[in-house]
Amino acid sequence: MVSRVIPVDPFDLTIFGGTGDLATRKILPGLFRRHLSGQMPHEAQIIGAARSELSDEEYRDIVRAAIAEFGAIDHSDSDVDEFLSRVSYLHVDAKGSAGWAALKSKMRDGYVRAFYFSVAPALFGDLAERLHEHDIAQRDSRIVVEKPFGKDLETARALNATLAKHFREDQIYRIDHYLGKETVQNLMAVRFGNMLFEPLWNAQFIDHIQITVAETVGVGGRGGYYDQSGAMRDMVQNHLMQLLCLIAMEPPSKFDPDAVRDEKLKVIRALDPVEPHHLVRGQYSADGEQPDYRSAVDNPRSRTESFVALKTHISNWRWAGTPFYLRTGKRMRARSSEIAVVFKETPHSIFGPDAGSHRNALVIRLQPDEGITLDVTIKEPGPGGMRLVDVPLDMTFAEALGPDAETAPEAYERLIMDVIRGNQTLFMRGDEVEAAWSWTDPIIQGWEARNDVPKPYDSGSSGPEDALMLLHRDGRKWREIR
Ligand code: NAP
Repeated sequence: MVSRVIPVDPFDLTIFGGTGDLATRKILPGLFRRHLSGQMPHEAQIIGAARSELSDEEYRDIVRAAIAEFGAIDHSDSDVDEFLSRVSYLHVDAKGSAGWAALKSKMRDGYVRAFYFSVAPALFGDLAERLHEHDIAQRDSRIVVEKPFGKDLETARALNATLAKHFREDQIYRIDHYLGKETVQNLMAVRFGNMLFEPLWNAQFIDHIQITVAETVGVGGRGGYYDQSGAMRDMVQNHLMQLLCLIAMEPPSKFDPDAVRDEKLKVIRALDPVEPHHLVRGQYSADGEQPDYRSAVDNPRSRTESFVALKTHISNWRWAGTPFYLRTGKRMRARSSEIAVVFKETPHSIFGPDAGSHRNALVIRLQPDEGITLDVTIKEPGPGGMRLVDVPLDMTFAEALGPDAETAPEAYERLIMDVIRGNQTLFMRGDEVEAAWSWTDPIIQGWEARNDVPKPYDSGSSGPEDALMLLHRDGRKWREIR
């Protein structure tokens, strides 16, 4: 398979927070890979901006080191030099006047103008305001806003209102990097590009859906931030919610930003509240080498969850009666993100009770090894009667697509190219984010009012025992995390 790389229009991309963790780990190495692929035009200009006083050369050294560490793919020194010739640095203070005149003088007429806000959310409003005050943002300039987008409905509304003072909705790109993953887009291709699945995609044929995002890492150096946030705000409100929307939404009339986002919004608005007994929160315990959650965040009385599992329903014709089970956690058994669509059993087994119970499952794996598997029931090979066994029809993209899978853009790079192209399909709209908080807020308020204390769970496990019971009570079980 030969993939086509279509270069984007020439652009000026300013990365506020250009020296930070996200910029050096994801954004800049991602842009470098787009440069290698030929998608970044020669006239592209990348400007790193932060408060540190650095020369262009000092900044290029930082970017060079970031590429060496995170650039992954094979490259030569001259590739890096060519990329770096497009990179420069400006000392800019989001809260002060330093650097803004210099930034304005770097902007070129007739080029796409994009500004990546890779800084703390508290600075988003300052950046938006100054870009206007200094007449740097134009009518078609774009801003890219990182998560977290607020910490509840009220703060998300306030943030939307602040950005809306200076930018129209079609200029604002709220990033959720899960939407940039190849598999997530493939989920839409599988659903809406094949006749096979969509007729079965409803409560009549689907028993339940599981969405799991398991991490092996703990809170690491983000303890202070994480303890104010927790798994519900950090993962469920955004990443898991986005996955749920794509799985559950009606087919949009076309693959167009607002058509897709309108359908996602309808899903969020149709989500049922979560009953307290359909919710499990956990905190990881220490293991031999790593501290427990409370020590890791340096808060011995913390009630913030590093794990959450819940059951919800979507109240509409398509999904009435099909439970959606969501779980996410840190320090789990394996790093694994997947969506499992578990179909119902056949209405009657012609093979008798000994054949056991079998359910087809379509599993969309986001990490590791992005791909899609369909568990199909077949006859166990060999003599001795009709015994049934479930085998996976496996479409691991790396195998199915060959070298193209290796060079496929990673989430961040794909999304940045979408920003330059002006395509908002894979970005969250303001009303979507607010609707997601409207669903999440009462759940959080509920456990706060109940003074709920998260259950401890072993590091390296699948979460607290109660999470297993959540499905067990319904006669179902979670797929193994591996
Ligand atoms: P970080 O490592 O702390 O970097 C923050 C950056 O902002 C630095 O370059 C810093 O440089 C700059 N900065 C701070 N104050 C500034 C000011 N007044 N004016 C201009 N620049 C200023 O943070 P990060 O981890 O990269 O995160 C950036 C954003 O991405 C945050 O909103 C975060 O929530 C989000 N995010 C990060 C990740 C991740 O994996 N890191 C993942 C998802 C979302 P100076 O101090 O030199 O100014």
